[in-house]
Amino acid sequence: MKGLVFDIRSFSVHDGPGIRTTVFLKGCALRCSWCHNPESQRCMVETARKFRRFGTEVSETTETLGTFLEASAILKRFEADRPFFEESNGGITLSGGEPLLQPAFTLFLLKASKELGIHTAIDTSGYASTEIFKNIIQAADLVLYDLKLADDYQHQHYTGQSNQLILENLRYLKSIQKRFFIRIPLIPDVTDTQKNLEGLYEIIEELNEVERIDILPFHHLGKTKYERMGKIFDFQQMGPYNSAKSEQIKSFFLPLAKTVSIGG
Ligand code: SF4
Repeated sequence: MKGLVFDIRSFSVHDGPGIRTTVFLKGCALRCSWCHNPESQRCMVETARKFRRFGTEVSETTETLGTFLEASAILKRFEADRPFFEESNGGITLSGGEPLLQPAFTLFLLKASKELGIHTAIDTSGYASTEIFKNIIQAADLVLYDLKLADDYQHQHYTGQSNQLILENLRYLKSIQKRFFIRIPLIPDVTDTQKNLEGLYEIIEELNEVERIDILPFHHLGKTKYERMGKIFDFQQMGPYNSAKSEQIKSFFLPLAKTVSIGG
């Protein structure tokens, strides 16, 4: 079985517990205006310009974004990284893009990893039909669940999709007592407004205590990717996120979870 992947990273420490190998699947139904992985959004092979410097000379080539990979090749990589998982209580994480957009491939990787005794996590926006969501989630040990905007109109405006399905799927996660962490991207004047933070607070409070909330301050590492892909980035001029504000927001969410961390 093959899936469309745009990156695989070993030794990741921000995608769940311990040291992890993260597979980034290509394709996402959302179009978050701050997305730092623009190459993750379209479920197709794309190209970008790539520049190489030799002293003062600059040459340009084309980079291919996305490869159809056999699940067996990915599982081999997981096996090779297994000693690091065992040392650190880590495992594998399927991320994106949106892994739920390639449901058969995602489910296969989760099940096969579990059969190998490897801990599995899925990093998702939660935007998928309830049927697909339920089917895949049951095969993962941990769900990293992104929450962005509480107000549906704002959610549609900044991500291109409604948050209704996302909130339904979040409540389902809680109802089946699946282990999950909430992840909140802090985007200046978009998700970090007082109104939105209070809205997210209410949503999480209704879940009646969660294990962990990770707040993820905006960074502009995706900036050059937009340029290379010929796309416009709405946050082109934005600098690094204010660390004092991250700390304030962390304190704000502390009553809701056993752990609240900055940066995952
Ligand atoms: S959900 Fe994630 S991958 Fe998809 S557009 Fe938003 S930030 Fe990018």
